[in-house]
Amino acid sequence: MLYVVTGPPAAGKSTYCRQHAQPTDVIIDFDLLANALTPPREGVSAHDHSDAVKAVAKAARQAAIDKALSLTGCDVYLIHSTPSAALLDRYRRAGAHIVTVDPGRDIVMSRCKAERPRRMLAVAAQWYDNQAQGDDDHAPRPARTTTEKGLGWQHQKQRDRLLRAHTDGTACWWCDQPMYRDKTRNHDGEALAADHTHARANGGTTADRLLHGRCNKERGKGDRDHLRPALAAQRGGWAGNSMTW
Ligand SMILES: [Zn+2]
Repeated sequence: MLYVVTGPPAAGKSTYCRQHAQPTDVIIDFDLLANALTPPREGVSAHDHSDAVKAVAKAARQAAIDKALSLTGCDVYLIHSTPSAALLDRYRRAGAHIVTVDPGRDIVMSRCKAERPRRMLAVAAQWYDNQAQGDDDHAPRPARTTTEKGLGWQHQKQRDRLLRAHTDGTACWWCDQPMYRDKTRNHDGEALAADHTHARANGGTTADRLLHGRCNKERGKGDRDHLRPALAAQRGGWAGNSMTW
């Protein structure tokens, strides 16, 4: 599995990788590569690199990505702060799972001020502006609440935990069809989603099971649980069932 870890500067992307990667997994981190290519300098931020070091680090990173994509039997964590939409699409087509690490604008801005070169403040601000624009592309959305922002990070960690514990082929509670880590094997072609048995709309706070991405959306607030296709399937089997995928 390839995890593309995105997010604004100082969001905690490297920390995320260190916490989630197993000892045999691969982490591709541009800053770490660049730091390995230049002598440590007193008083200069580890995130500021010369053009020459950046160019070499970029080439090393690309070679690492190409090789990593050909590996099996280990997870690869690739840190990419702000991939373009086209690149994100390519990662997704390669079967990558996109993780967005975002502890919230306030935390990121104060960390940037304390720990990063000055120009990173602008980069972080730009990241949040782009996120807001991305939201506008779909539908007008109310401002996110603090709880929802907090949920993002906790929820992703919980989803990762559920995915690690998942046995491929386990039946989805909603539709009774098998669930796979490899989204191309799922009936909806989507990655598995972490679901709250005790629906969030009713105060549930921790995702405790996986559902198909589409099934999770269909379940919505959990007020149609009694109509889920799995029950119809258990009653009459799939033959003659009008449910189509
Ligand atoms: Zn399902």
